[in-house]
Amino acid sequence: MAEPRKKPPAPRPQQPAGSSPRPAGATPGKAVAPRTSAGEVGAPAVPQYESLIPKSSGVRALLAPVGGFGVTLSNMFRKTVTEQYPRETVPTKPRYHGRHQLNRYADGLEKCIGCELCAWACPADAIYVEASDNTPDAQFSPGERFGSVYQINYLRCIFCGLCIEACPTRALTMTNEFELAGPSRAGMIYEKDDLLAPLREGMLAAPHPMVEGTTDTEYYRGEVTGPTEAQRAWVREHRPDDPTLPEGAGVTAAEQVGPTAAVMAQNVAAAHRQGGVR
Ligand code: SF4
Repeated sequence: MAEPRKKPPAPRPQQPAGSSPRPAGATPGKAVAPRTSAGEVGAPAVPQYESLIPKSSGVRALLAPVGGFGVTLSNMFRKTVTEQYPRETVPTKPRYHGRHQLNRYADGLEKCIGCELCAWACPADAIYVEASDNTPDAQFSPGERFGSVYQINYLRCIFCGLCIEACPTRALTMTNEFELAGPSRAGMIYEKDDLLAPLREGMLAAPHPMVEGTTDTEYYRGEVTGPTEAQRAWVREHRPDDPTLPEGAGVTAAEQVGPTAAVMAQNVAAAHRQGGVR
């Protein structure tokens, strides 16, 4: 039996005049690098850009080149918002993260218990805490322990607020104070004396015993609202000249600003004077 005759191959399409043949292995529809006459590969062919924005016509097309000046002109007549710091100090937002503060209970005892959770939470390793035991003769905070050493290095602090989130007693909070200027690197390290909240009217300076019949739980719950007569009697016996006693000179006389805070306050005042603040 005779074999069927093979169908002849279809003729190849003719290349248009002047175009180069597709290189072997190239994908149809993809831009490929054209070859020069010497066989070198040139820059890839870039498909032509087509804007998706409809083209304007008429008056819009006429004004388009100067349209951008509209933004400039409209802003030229707006009220300027440049702040004149330090001549004018603009109040910060209420929740601004500024300098830290170590708070007290209403009777004057310190809230910090020296647990170091703030130091562990700090991502910049800016806080250093050492705790000590409270004793009957030196009770600084409710419970067993208090923060005897407390330092914050403001060259490291990034004011993220993670420390105040970690504090179990709300001892550590942040004020709105942002004017921090130290005389040296060591001068930017705030000690406990610099961070302790000022004594308010009616508070009794620590150390002194806890309110009689209470534990630290009553303090945490806010059930202690001020010093008792027994606490005042203890302070009279151990520190008869204490200015925070009712017969003393008052909390203003008792305020001892820490040395770092005092130097910083001088620096900030000097900077304000240089800035022309009266
Ligand atoms: S400030 Fe708060 S978190 Fe830090 S050591 Fe004192 S109690 Fe603990």
